[in-house]
Amino acid sequence: MSERNNKRKRQRNKRFKEDPQILPSPSHSSKRSKLKEPSSFLDKMRARLSGGHFRMINEKLYTCTGEEALDYFQGEPSLFNLYHAGYKSQMSNWPEQPVNVIIKWLKKQSPSFVIADFGCVSILGEALIAKSVKNKVFSLDLVSNDPNVIACDMANSPLVSSSIDVAVFCLSLMGTNYQSYLEESYRVLKPGGYLLIAEVKSRFDPNNGGADPEKFSNAISELGFKSVKQDFSNKMFILFYFTKKEKQISKKKEIEWPMLKPCLYKRR
Ligand code: SAH
Repeated sequence: MSERNNKRKRQRNKRFKEDPQILPSPSHSSKRSKLKEPSSFLDKMRARLSGGHFRMINEKLYTCTGEEALDYFQGEPSLFNLYHAGYKSQMSNWPEQPVNVIIKWLKKQSPSFVIADFGCVSILGEALIAKSVKNKVFSLDLVSNDPNVIACDMANSPLVSSSIDVAVFCLSLMGTNYQSYLEESYRVLKPGGYLLIAEVKSRFDPNNGGADPEKFSNAISELGFKSVKQDFSNKMFILFYFTKKEKQISKKKEIEWPMLKPCLYKRR
């Protein structure tokens, strides 16, 4: 194991020692007004460059594995902030943020439910779910700028098996190996626990290279979940609700996972 991984593990162990669910292991503003024309031109150029950079990182995240994405950001964590600045500017056009729909649902559930938020850095802040509900929440993402966020590849989380009541993937099934994130959620969820997935609608448009939502749902059911609800009512995203079957599946058969079309943003 690399020194970087060891360091990561030591930090995680230190920070989350107490948790049974965690496995051991320059402001230029005054000058701006005087230089109105050139700075607005420069700002436009900067915005264009960072928009291009955002689209490049976004495409990378949808076309590599979670492990590769983790390495990519750990080599250059500032790219993560750049990605999130671009993501925020794209998402702010959405009439509704799926994470808010999920928070509303969570607030109706038992406050004793333990939640895992897989891919937790949202446009409304890091670990937004953790900050919005009374429940105990484990917030995971590739990079942590907040002491409450666990930095990891979510295919390989530090959470203890069968310790979680609700696993949330809100627009975070980005890697080419997305099925391994769902397998990880199956591992950490208690029998009867909930799996909530919000994904961009265009990824599920079979007439446009997207996956058939039924095939996606069937593959998850074969993993050992029961589909309880699908919500297509929102313009931009679909919400899938599953529960982990009480009875464990003994023999694992080969599951056919549909490819989820990458969500690439156009230049605006
Ligand atoms: N859930 C948030 C964030 C969506 S953006 C919201 O609703 O707005 C998707 C997030 O998933 C990004 O922060 C990205 O870093 C994270 N992510 C993608 N692949 C990941 C992986 N393999 N492991 C951990 N986090 C991942």
